[in-house]
Amino acid sequence: MTLELIPNPSLAQRTTLRLGGTADVEAVVHDERDLDELGCFLATHTLRPFVLGKGSNLLASDGRLDLALIRVGAGSGPLRVERTDDTLIVRCPASLALPGLLGWAKKAGLAGLEGLTGIPGSVGGAVAMNAGSYGVEFGDLVTRVRLWSPAGGLVWVAANECVFGYRHFSAPARPAGRLIWEVEIGLSESTPRSVHRQMQSVYEKKRATQPVTARSAGCVFKNPGGESAGRLLDKAGMKGVRVGDMAFSEMHANFLVNLGQGTSAQAMELIETGREAVRDAFGVALETEVITL
Ligand SMILES: Cc1cc2nc3c(=O)[nH]c(=O)nc-3n(C[C@H](O)[C@H](O)[C@H](O)COP(=O)(O)OP(=O)(O)OC[C@H]3O[C@@H](n4cnc5c(N)ncnc54)[C@H](O)[C@@H]3O)c2cc1C
Repeated sequence: MTLELIPNPSLAQRTTLRLGGTADVEAVVHDERDLDELGCFLATHTLRPFVLGKGSNLLASDGRLDLALIRVGAGSGPLRVERTDDTLIVRCPASLALPGLLGWAKKAGLAGLEGLTGIPGSVGGAVAMNAGSYGVEFGDLVTRVRLWSPAGGLVWVAANECVFGYRHFSAPARPAGRLIWEVEIGLSESTPRSVHRQMQSVYEKKRATQPVTARSAGCVFKNPGGESAGRLLDKAGMKGVRVGDMAFSEMHANFLVNLGQGTSAQAMELIETGREAVRDAFGVALETEVITL
């Protein structure tokens, strides 16, 4: 394989919010052999690199973005399982869809991931964001992560050398542009039936309280110090507030949804309005969870 270069990639087509203009180029890495070429590409371009997963936590600006998107293509290897004393270690490529990993774990009767049901995105994105819900954070399951950087190549880093925080991941001496290539997680043996039941239960709860099928990027703000950002936004009157075709969901005030022809400028305006409303009502400064580009 050779590194695939796609000119003028549309961010709107690559993000679940369906917002954003065009970047300069997208470099798609299909397998390990492309990484040297990626290193050369990064060395010869002055564009800011940005690693893209499945775009489910991104709000990209309208217009032209001086960015080189980097994406790990689909072909970076299958899931592999090794047994230790009481845990099954599962190796997953960063490009794997998180729902695909959950579906695989369900069939195999492996427990641990159930709380993450309903979270879209890639395994790489789940590591980078330490995605979590219903008491489970992806980082809780990670045993080691394989990272790539132009200077260091591919290296395995043990989980205890990494920092997994609230929607945060960092590794020692992690230079900008470092790519999560693959990850190993520990799961425990259960039965397909039991795993299915728990995943179903989480999904039903989410479906009842979140706009799971709307165009969104999940929660737009982080929960501040044990409080729920959604509840604060709701109490500050933001539920359903709309600018153009962007709105705070009627169902869950912390979900910003694109009702059709929304723009990034409208989304940013709403984010500032929501932030101000919560600051004025409760003196709480909300921090965005969604990554803005
Ligand atoms: C309907 C809906 C529900 C959601 N529910 C939840 C939830 O319950 N909990 C939760 O935590 N999140 C939730 N999210 C947000 C989002 O799905 C997660 O943050 C997800 O893990 C992002 O993965 P991604 O592949 O889409 O990453 P992207 O959105 O593409 O990128 C997010 C960040 O990860 C980095 N990144 C991605 N891949 C790599 C890689 N291979 N190497 C290095 N960096 C990388 C990017 O540079 C960026 O900084 C939800 C989103 C939606 C749309």
